[in-house]
Amino acid sequence: MHRQNRTLPFDVRTLTDGALVGISATGDHLFLHQDELDCLLNDPDKFPPKRKAELAARFFLPNHGRNVGKERLLAARRAAKRETVAAGPSLHIIVPTLQCGHTCQYCQVSRAQSDSGFSMTPAALDAACERIWESDADVLTVEFQGGDPLLRFDLIVRAVERLTDMNHDGNKRLRFVVASTLHQLTEEMCAFFRAHDVVLSTSLDGPEHLHNRNRPVPGRDSYRRTLDGIALARQRIGEHAVSALMTTTRASLEFPEQIVDEYVRLGFNEIFLRPLSIYGFAKRNLARVGYSQEEFQVFYERALQRILWWNQQGVPVREVYMSIVMNKILSTFDAGYVDLQSPTGAGSSVLVYNYDGWVYPSDEARMLVETGDASLRMGRVTDSLAQLLSSETRLQLIQASETAAADCTSCAYRHYCAPNPVDSQAQFGRPDVPAHQTEHCGRHQWLFDTAFALLHGADANSEEMFHVWARPSTTQEAACDR
Ligand code: SF4
Repeated sequence: MHRQNRTLPFDVRTLTDGALVGISATGDHLFLHQDELDCLLNDPDKFPPKRKAELAARFFLPNHGRNVGKERLLAARRAAKRETVAAGPSLHIIVPTLQCGHTCQYCQVSRAQSDSGFSMTPAALDAACERIWESDADVLTVEFQGGDPLLRFDLIVRAVERLTDMNHDGNKRLRFVVASTLHQLTEEMCAFFRAHDVVLSTSLDGPEHLHNRNRPVPGRDSYRRTLDGIALARQRIGEHAVSALMTTTRASLEFPEQIVDEYVRLGFNEIFLRPLSIYGFAKRNLARVGYSQEEFQVFYERALQRILWWNQQGVPVREVYMSIVMNKILSTFDAGYVDLQSPTGAGSSVLVYNYDGWVYPSDEARMLVETGDASLRMGRVTDSLAQLLSSETRLQLIQASETAAADCTSCAYRHYCAPNPVDSQAQFGRPDVPAHQTEHCGRHQWLFDTAFALLHGADANSEEMFHVWARPSTTQEAACDR
């Protein structure tokens, strides 16, 4: 519900335990008692001075006599929330090859078993580097995805060296990430990555039996090889050279605590409890590996409780999805998680240069192609950045992700969240179905409810921990495109 009289505009959300959270137009929040809400709606002057100052500081009440400054501050706070989208493409995903040795049931990209026709040409790779360099963003993150990009290490070297040369005067900050199974990692690769500050991101789905079931490699021990890769990278590149991500399948649902414990045992201080994406191969195999949103919620809540328990034992480990949500709620500066941006970051802050020379607005959008839906192509890698950014696809995505439209206008979480047009396209074959019909909307309403319930029940230590979680970390930054 929206409220506006002698107050500034704000929304109220009732949590499952009956607690009321007020959210102002800047995204600031306050937990309210019912009598406080009544007072806010009917006679805000009755608040004691301290509470009144608190309500004014969080943009629920006007600050009499200083409203000009307040309006500017309000505009600045709103702009800060959109900064990552407004700054120009900053995350550039290059897919050097679709080859991969795994046969994961939930694979989103229909990996290829051979190089023929499934790897980027050097000319297309060079064109991708030119597009990246045309971006206005001061910080450029270049992520190599696949398939398994280490199978075309030569293309990674070519792009990293080319972009480093382009930045010879050091005007931009370049960050390189390679997302890989790490099965092909060698000492030579580690030496190159160390010399060029390249960090690695891998997939680890939990303990051995689960990882091998989710991510099989014909005739080989997938789990052991990934662990060997992690050990080699830590030894040769640095202790924090590798972050890991997990994907939740139906087989994972029984093992939330064991998955968290595995991450802690291996010394990771972050775990991203990712639901299955309904793209590519995963969509085809949904009946076998999928589950309902309710089942995911039960899994997630058990895993999150285990993470909180570890923190209480003095082992600092954070959950990345909740950290993204906490960043939205607690921080003035948005970490830029693409799926929750309005307008969407897909095609604006993120571009994907696929192995076949086409450019897509997000990793998920290129995955749709593997099941025959090429509607989200923005153009060819040889088109200029300006042409790509003015493509019909991008304009459609921006339009479909405005929270000012349709369902989101009545949602208390619209200052943190947005419709996800790429998800909508995957689920319904069009980017603009009403937000409430989408799985994305239901999941995020629940996640924001969960976050506020955690904050409402938090003691001083937990509150401090959630503020730490709200600051973007390496995995969280890497996750912002997914
Ligand atoms: S997508 Fe759903 S949860 Fe997100 S702002 Fe819109 S209505 Fe709210």
